[in-house]
Amino acid sequence: MKLFSSHQRDTINQNFKKVTLDLLVIGGGITGAGISLDAVTRGLNTGLIEMQDFAAGTSSRSTKLVHGGLRYLQQFEFKMVSEVGKERAIVYENGPHVTTPEWMMLPLYKGSTLGPVTTNIGLRIYDFLAGVKKEERRVMLNPDQAIEKEPLIKKQGLKGAGYYVEYKTDDARLTIEVLKKAVEKGVHAINYTKAIDFLYDESNKICGVLAEDQITGERHKVFAKKVVNASGPWVDGLREKDGSKQGKALHLTKGIHLVFSKEVFPLNQAIYFDAPDGRMIFAIPRGKRTYVGTTDTTYKGDLTNPQVTDEDLDYLLMAIDFMFPSLKLNESHVESSWAGLRPLIAENGKGDNPSEISRKDEVFVSDSGLISIAGGKLTGYRQMALQIVNLVVKQLKEEEGILYSDSVTKNLPISGGEVGGSKGYQRFKGQKLSEGMTIGLKKEDALKLIETYGSNVSVLFNLYQDKFDEAVKEGMDPIVLSQLIYAMEYELAYKPVDFFIRRTGALFFDIEWVNQHKEKVINYMQKSLNWSNKQKNLYSSELEQSLHEAVTPLR
Ligand SMILES: Cc1cc2nc3c(=O)[nH]c(=O)nc-3n(C[C@H](O)[C@H](O)[C@H](O)COP(=O)(O)OP(=O)(O)OC[C@H]3O[C@@H](n4cnc5c(N)ncnc54)[C@H](O)[C@@H]3O)c2cc1C
Repeated sequence: MKLFSSHQRDTINQNFKKVTLDLLVIGGGITGAGISLDAVTRGLNTGLIEMQDFAAGTSSRSTKLVHGGLRYLQQFEFKMVSEVGKERAIVYENGPHVTTPEWMMLPLYKGSTLGPVTTNIGLRIYDFLAGVKKEERRVMLNPDQAIEKEPLIKKQGLKGAGYYVEYKTDDARLTIEVLKKAVEKGVHAINYTKAIDFLYDESNKICGVLAEDQITGERHKVFAKKVVNASGPWVDGLREKDGSKQGKALHLTKGIHLVFSKEVFPLNQAIYFDAPDGRMIFAIPRGKRTYVGTTDTTYKGDLTNPQVTDEDLDYLLMAIDFMFPSLKLNESHVESSWAGLRPLIAENGKGDNPSEISRKDEVFVSDSGLISIAGGKLTGYRQMALQIVNLVVKQLKEEEGILYSDSVTKNLPISGGEVGGSKGYQRFKGQKLSEGMTIGLKKEDALKLIETYGSNVSVLFNLYQDKFDEAVKEGMDPIVLSQLIYAMEYELAYKPVDFFIRRTGALFFDIEWVNQHKEKVINYMQKSLNWSNKQKNLYSSELEQSLHEAVTPLR
């Protein structure tokens, strides 16, 4: 039985009501997803609830890089560089379909803090500490070579460039693939279900939550021996509800990204460059688009819907103009955008300058037993999970004498990642490509499906064949219909925004595709999921609002 299908929301909810879980995780971002996977594979009966869609918080709004920790080198945190670099390799091996190596160029200019010699030494140390593979070790480029790689960069004062590898990901799909694996292993997970209150036993220890279904408004109790608050920017809100918000607190900072079509920003090569104020900015090619980010400003507004402001927009346009002066881009060239919140931990005495705040994760345990975790990065999700589950199993051992096994996620492919590791992936792609073309897909379309769904692509290929006639009858593109059915039946997508933002990334990187298919998708979802007309209107306007926000105040 599939337990990650939107047709089975009732069954999933019933299952939550029937059990006392060993562990309940609040929050379905990358942190919560990772914790649930680690926990279930060690034998804990685990549940996860998410008040919006999975990854709808920060985990769909990042720069979408699985970093190797180069920035920690500037702060001389050698141990951290070594740990993060090795972790990046694990994330890659376990899901090569959702993590792709991307050569990054770091142009060096007269008068900037980093020169070719220091950069060369720095990158060499980095390669060593992070255990970078031979074929991905840094190369230094002279100015001509740098310009050849990317003719759009500023030429004046160019002294050369560092050339090293970062890993590109799709943050929301990474989160969903981790969660799908967790569900496959037995996690009860549901979206649109909010923890609105905690439940306490007679000794004032947390024993569950009162959950509210955000679709039906129904409330029910979920009982659990341990509760982890992995709610990202909302962590302090839940700590407050528990009466345990003391000591360190979150300091939220906002980061935005702008997306351009390749026609107006024809970037060939990912660039990591200095803005005029010395902050580092990424410009990254992605399919037919180029995206640029990010900013880092203290944030105090609405947590669910941070917006791109005029200042954010001006700042990034100015940075682009500084590094790519021939482009002359302005706001009318921006095709889409997104804004996200970093749940950073304020340290005493620091806090005014967002860039100075540590990106490290931090764990808080309250007197009531609530375990909260915030901070960190996508790259470190597995280590954060390990740390939390180690704590949970230690507590359960002390309290109940139960023993659980050690973490197994180091060598556990995430969903879609069963492709034989990074080496096997190329062969896998070749095989699946010919399979896809045999069933009538164009090479480009087959490849896109393989790169999105990895080893799950066989399900998509079957859906493509089985639903082809239905798609024609509905006037839909059969590929879109296969993706939609897959999202609803295997990835718990319930609303159009789930499909267009978190399951396909199209609202950020192919807004035209969204506009082209939204009407048919909405009609199909209504029929398939039995929405009322009221629901259809509500979800349609939610999508329109998201489309509007992605391009506003940009026009
Ligand atoms: C602009 C920007 C760029 C970044 N770039 C990178 C990068 O390139 N690489 C990298 O490694 N990291 C990057 N990061 C950091 C990374 O994105 C975050 O560390 C990570 O996504 C945080 O995940 P999370 O699961 O802790 O939080 P979230 O993804 O926000 O998840 C928390 C979830 O909890 C849910 N929730 C809250 N309250 C409740 C409740 N009461 N009941 C149920 N659910 C609830 C929320 O809806 C949310 O989905 C970036 C961050 C930002 C903002």
